[in-house]
Amino acid sequence: MTNHRVDPTKTVERLIKLVLSEQVNCFNCEHCDVEGNACRKFGSQPPLRIIKNGCPEFSQNIPF
Ligand code: SF4
Repeated sequence: MTNHRVDPTKTVERLIKLVLSEQVNCFNCEHCDVEGNACRKFGSQPPLRIIKNGCPEFSQNIPF
């Protein structure tokens, strides 16, 4: 019989990767200024559809 124990750490890591890979929007874009409520690239607050769906300038190069 095979042991199918789940490693909770691996499961959480996989879930985080999955969520982040499907969350291509302003909140995880390197140009997002959350405190300033704006996009640094365009110097203004993005429209709601862009915030939700993302835009062609999305960049995932988050420095942390
Ligand atoms: S570059 Fe696009 S996705 Fe990134 S914060 Fe600005 S509007 Fe949002």
